[in-house]
Amino acid sequence: MTHKKIMMEPNKKIALVAHDNKKRDLIEWSKFNRDLLAHHKVYATGTTGALLERELGFKVHRLESGPLGGDQQIGSKIVEGEIDFLIFFWDPLEPQPHDPDVKALLRMAVVWNIPIACDRSSADFIISSPLMDSTYERLVPDYSGYRNRKLAEEKAAEPPLAAPAARAVGPAA
Ligand code: PGA
Repeated sequence: MTHKKIMMEPNKKIALVAHDNKKRDLIEWSKFNRDLLAHHKVYATGTTGALLERELGFKVHRLESGPLGGDQQIGSKIVEGEIDFLIFFWDPLEPQPHDPDVKALLRMAVVWNIPIACDRSSADFIISSPLMDSTYERLVPDYSGYRNRKLAEEKAAEPPLAAPAARAVGPAA
């Protein structure tokens, strides 16, 4: 598959999300990395964003609360190229009312090849990467083949291929 390049600028657009049992972890991690995060544009789901804004003391772009559509808003921003990476501390021990949205958000992150950290150690590796403060060409699969694919009905409606002209067979000499 061929790829397209999407430029990630030195100032990144970062989405932070944490389920309730993981919010403390995310707040601690964000406070530890406050000065690094402050250089970037931070987005968050509603409740996570309110906590972050209070603890970090800078503007966080708050979306709706996750179960009310916030995860889907972040997914949509990934599609639009408005989010460069995702720190998502989801809870592996408790079912969520919006489990389908969680899955959809993680799926969108992979479809568009953005970095995702789902736990603190992954988030540490991402935030300390030299790529954080430089430009980075993100390779996104070229989905034009998929967009232009022919549906089964379209294929069925196509005229059948012309049969090869039959060769005249005469009586044996
Ligand atoms: P919240 O949403 O920050 O509004 O709690 C998080 C989530 O569950 O996706």
